[in-house]
Amino acid sequence: MANQDQLHRYLFENYAVRGELVTVSNTWKQMLENHNYPLPVKTLLGELLVATSLLTATLKFAGDITVQLQGDGPMNLAVINGNNRQQMRGVARVQGDVPANADLKTLVGNGYLVITITPEEGERYQGVVGLEGDTLAACLEDYFMRSEQLPTRLFIRTGEVDGQPTAGGMLLQVLPAQETQVNDFEHLAVLTETVKAEELFSLAAEEVLWRLYHEEEVTLYDPQDVEFKCTCSRERCAAALKTLPDEEVDSIIAEEGEIDMHCDYCGNHYLFNAMDIAEIRNNASPANPQVH
Ligand SMILES: [Zn+2]
Repeated sequence: MANQDQLHRYLFENYAVRGELVTVSNTWKQMLENHNYPLPVKTLLGELLVATSLLTATLKFAGDITVQLQGDGPMNLAVINGNNRQQMRGVARVQGDVPANADLKTLVGNGYLVITITPEEGERYQGVVGLEGDTLAACLEDYFMRSEQLPTRLFIRTGEVDGQPTAGGMLLQVLPAQETQVNDFEHLAVLTETVKAEELFSLAAEEVLWRLYHEEEVTLYDPQDVEFKCTCSRERCAAALKTLPDEEVDSIIAEEGEIDMHCDYCGNHYLFNAMDIAEIRNNASPANPQVH
């Protein structure tokens, strides 16, 4: 667990196919702190985190990505926010009893996978797919076929090593606008599918790739660190408070003495008393009015 979470990109020199390998165990662990999720919810959040990191790395521009599962099941919402700097945060909402062995369908019920991509410059894009697949990986592969017509495979591994939660995965994708034989892509997918969780978590990326593809010519690029990072701040809370009607804010202050704004993602509390509120109202524009 001492190892830094990292994302590696690689390319098959003889096929128009690229790959990614990521480990997000520390990020996952931090995401679970301050929460008491049932095991199947923890696992699905880990899978969603792996998937979001892999998806974010396919973007060609700076921006944010949100991958969200929503439905009418006992876990009615799970969401991961990430950005091109591989800073991740996530949260799940549980509203009912979660069976011990609940799979994706049992957890989410009738639902959707919603992917929102917000470039720093340019238009926001949102893609929605029904949960047709049995696994999150299958649903995302479906998304890529529908939205970008790019054959894509995801391989997600979560579990425990020495009592510590571990999460990681791999992605294979045909390069846009290039000819790749279906058979070649399938061949590489079959090789990648054999990756074992313990290899992903205990070996260097070079070693994993060599074990999987030793007959192929693979170029491995410099890795990128992945980390847990929440984007909440006192300024953002203040900006959100400003959007509420004054009477509503005043009545909470009158009843509670202060307003406690709690971040679901990281567990931070931001407290505002009557003086703070007066200051917010006097300041025409808060330092950082962006709200995500
Ligand atoms: Zn936060």
